[in-house]
Amino acid sequence: MLGLMQDTPLLLSSVIDYAARYHGGVEVVSKTEAGRIERSTYAAVAKRARRLAAALRGLGVQPGERVASLAVNSARHLELYYGATGAGAILNTVNPRLFPEQIAYILEHAENRLVFLDPAFVALLEPFAGQIPSIQGFVLLCEREAMPKSSLANLMCFEDLIDAQADDAPWTPVGERDGAILCYTSGTTGSPKGVLYSHRSLVLHAFCATAADGMGLSSRDSVLLVTPLFHVNAWGVPFSAAMCGAKLVLPGAALDGESLYNLLRDEACTFSLGVPTVWLGFLDFISAHGERLSLSSLALERVLVGGSAAPRALIEKFDWLLGVYVIHAWGMTETSPLATIGTPLPEHAKLERQARYDIQSRQGRAIYGVELRIIDEAGLELPADGVATGELQVRGPWVLRQYFKADEPAVDADGWFTTGDVARLLPDGFLQITDRSKDVIKSGGEWISSIDLENAAVAHPEIREAAVIGVPHPKWQERPLLLVVPRPGAAPAKEDILRFLANRVARWWLPDDVIVVPELPHTATGKLLKTALRETYRDHLSRADIEAN
Ligand code: ADP
Repeated sequence: MLGLMQDTPLLLSSVIDYAARYHGGVEVVSKTEAGRIERSTYAAVAKRARRLAAALRGLGVQPGERVASLAVNSARHLELYYGATGAGAILNTVNPRLFPEQIAYILEHAENRLVFLDPAFVALLEPFAGQIPSIQGFVLLCEREAMPKSSLANLMCFEDLIDAQADDAPWTPVGERDGAILCYTSGTTGSPKGVLYSHRSLVLHAFCATAADGMGLSSRDSVLLVTPLFHVNAWGVPFSAAMCGAKLVLPGAALDGESLYNLLRDEACTFSLGVPTVWLGFLDFISAHGERLSLSSLALERVLVGGSAAPRALIEKFDWLLGVYVIHAWGMTETSPLATIGTPLPEHAKLERQARYDIQSRQGRAIYGVELRIIDEAGLELPADGVATGELQVRGPWVLRQYFKADEPAVDADGWFTTGDVARLLPDGFLQITDRSKDVIKSGGEWISSIDLENAAVAHPEIREAAVIGVPHPKWQERPLLLVVPRPGAAPAKEDILRFLANRVARWWLPDDVIVVPELPHTATGKLLKTALRETYRDHLSRADIEAN
C-alpha cells in the first residue's frame, strides 16, 4: 500500500522562496572587486532571481539547456544559482582558475548557450570564446556603468537584463529529478568530467548539510562563504544557508588573510568554510598580527575544512589562536560534495586537547544518506577495523550515477562509486583518508601515506606547507621525497626536519630527501598538484649522489 502523503517536488526555487518569506530581511553581503561592501537580502535575491528566470525565458533559453558562470562569490552569482535553475535551465559553474584550454573544453562540452561572467574574466575569455559554437551571448555580472569594452559578441549587462522583468515573475515548472547544476571535476587526471546534480539531490544534500551534526547551520549564524560558488556548489551552502536563514557573506576575489579577517570581524561571522590553503594564509596573518588585532571580538565559532586533508597543525592553531573548532569533512565533486563530517560525539567532550585533535584530524563520519566502504584490489569489502586500508567506495542519493554525456554508468551494479581515495574506516565509523590512489607511495611492497607525512611535516614550527611524493628508487621501487615551503623568514635545515619527523612517523617512512622550495604548485581548487611535482623530481632519487647515501 502506498503512503498517502503529498509528493511535493524538492526544488531549489522552493528554498529561495522559503528564505524570502521567513528570512526575507536577512542580509546577503558581497565584497566587490573594488573592495566596496554591497548589502542585499534574501527577499531581494529571490525577486531578482525571478526576474532573471523571466529574462532567460525571453532570451529563448529552454528548460534543460545550459548557461555558464565564470565568477567569484557575489550576490549576483547567487541570484544566478536560483534564477537559472528557476528558469529550468542548468547552471554550469566554471572555475576561472582552470587553464584556458580546460575552460574552453568545459564550455563547449556542456554546450552552454550563455556565459555569465565577472568583468575580471573578460580578457580570459576573449581569445577563444567566439569559437565555441553553442554560445550566443555573454552577460556581465556588474552595474551598467561598470560595463567594460570587449570584443566578446552580444555582450549584455545583468542589470539591464533583469530590469525589464517583474519581481513576481513565475518560476518555470520543472521536476525534482531534472538537472539543475553542472560541475566539472578539475581534470587533474584526463579531461574534466561533468557531474549533473538534480534539484532533488541538491535539496536533500542541503537538508543534511544544514543539520546539527552536519554544518549545524541556523538563522543565528552569519556565514563567511570562502569556498567559491564554482567549487562543487560552494559545498551546498547557498542552499543550506537559505534553508535556515543564515546570513551570507560573499568575499569576492580577495581571499588573503587580512581581507578574510576584516569580513569575519565586520560581519560578525560565526561559521566559515574553505580549503586548507586558504586557512593556512589566514592563520599566518593572525599569527603575524595577532597582537594588534582584537581577536577576542571575533564571533567565529566553527570552521569547516575540506577539499584536502586538514593538517593537524591547522586544527591546533585555530583552537589556540581563536578558540575555533575545526570540523573536518570529506567529499568530492561526485558526492555533491558532503559525504563525511567530523562533528564531535558525546564521548569526545571530556577528551584532553591532543586526543581531540587526533579525532578532528580524521575526515569524520558518514552523514545520513551516504554509505561508505573500503575494498581490496580484488574488489572485496575490507573490515572497518582501523587497520585495513583499501580503496574507498561511496553511494547515496547525492552521489553521481553517470557523468554528463557518458555512455556508461560510473558506478557498479550495486551503485558503488569508486572514489580514487585510499582510506581506513574505524570501528566508530570515522574515516581516515591516507591518500589518493595515484599518490600512494609504494616502497618495497609496503604503502606509505603521503598525507600522514605531510601532516607531520607541517607540525614543524618553521614549515608552512609540505608535499610528499613517491619518486622512483633503484632499490625500493619508490621512496618519499619531501618538499617544504618555509614560514616567512624561516630557513629550516634538512637534518632538523628529519629529526623532527623521526619522532612522529615510522623509521622506514622517513623521506629520502628534503627540498626547501619557495612555493608549491596547486590545482585550480587549491590541492597540491602532485602530477607536476612527480614530473619535476622523477629522477631525483636515482641521481648518483643520493644513491650513495
Ligand atoms: P577533483 O577531484 O576535481 O580534484 P574535488 O573537489 O572533487 O576535485 O576533489 C575531491 C578529492 O579531494 C577527494 O577525492 C580527495 O582526494 C580530496 N579530499 C577532499 N576532502 C578531503 C579531506 N578532508 N581529506 C583528504 N582529502 C580530501
